[in-house]
Amino acid sequence: MFEIVFLGTSASAPSIQRGLPSQMVMHKEYRFLIDCGEGTQRQILQSGLGFKRLDKILITHSHLDHILGLAGLLSTFMRWEAIEKLEIWAGQPAIARIRDLLHGVVLRGASPPVKLELNVIEPGCLMEDETFQLTAFPVTHRGGGTFGFLFEEKPRRPFLAAKADALGVPPGPLRAQLVAGKPCMLPNGAAVSPDEVLGELAPGARLAFVGDCGRTDNILEYCRRADGLVIESTYLEVEAALAREFSHLTARQAASLAREAQVRRLFLTHLSRRYRDREVAEEARAVFPDTTVVKDFDRFSIAREK
Ligand SMILES: [Zn+2]
Ligand SMILES: [Zn+2]
Repeated sequence: MFEIVFLGTSASAPSIQRGLPSQMVMHKEYRFLIDCGEGTQRQILQSGLGFKRLDKILITHSHLDHILGLAGLLSTFMRWEAIEKLEIWAGQPAIARIRDLLHGVVLRGASPPVKLELNVIEPGCLMEDETFQLTAFPVTHRGGGTFGFLFEEKPRRPFLAAKADALGVPPGPLRAQLVAGKPCMLPNGAAVSPDEVLGELAPGARLAFVGDCGRTDNILEYCRRADGLVIESTYLEVEAALAREFSHLTARQAASLAREAQVRRLFLTHLSRRYRDREVAEEARAVFPDTTVVKDFDRFSIAREK
């Protein structure tokens, strides 16, 4: 299961109701901040999430509405070291701009308050452990070097507690051994194999995150059958020409992607002040009914559909 908290849901400039783009994705002990628009640190505090374990930041692209908050965040860390290391992941153009911002403006020759890693993203796996994988995929948007992120739980075989009970496997380390795929010996000397207590291999939850985006055909495969798809919706169809010009999507285009990719739920963000939420929702839901137009501080759990 993944949790996502929207910290800022506005496009290009903040509004009274919406901060600039940022969201936190959480899975087990991991926390990923995706994008860090101006004002993000205050949104983090207001959301109740706090700075603890905030050591991984993924940046979708180099535009200022997605990165300016990094300066404030690092400046706060200079006074109050809540963490030991900060990893920032982004495409080459964004890393160049972030380096200027952090080293040129914030630090100006001073050494960073935390171990600061600026990592250039290449498409493919960014990190994984036994149960989870994070993949970066290329997205078309003005300026280039833009990435989307796919959070996936690896497929696993569920533990069938009733079967373990029937076989007399006591709760504790023997069950853990079976879950890990190793056979075990019961206190009475009987052997139990993992196949006896594990069900069929079942896929895990998938959350696809796409920030600013000007084209959907080339990201369809990454979004396919996601349990949750988060994507921008900067324009409505009446201004489709502007959407094209600035390499953004309309609500209808985002919803068409969700339908074609057969995702379970669609979350629209990066919303412009020029429209009402209701209009955005109506346009999208006509194509993909399970659409949510998100607000700052909305929180959702993304689990695998049973
Ligand atoms: Zn943007
Ligand atoms: Zn942009």
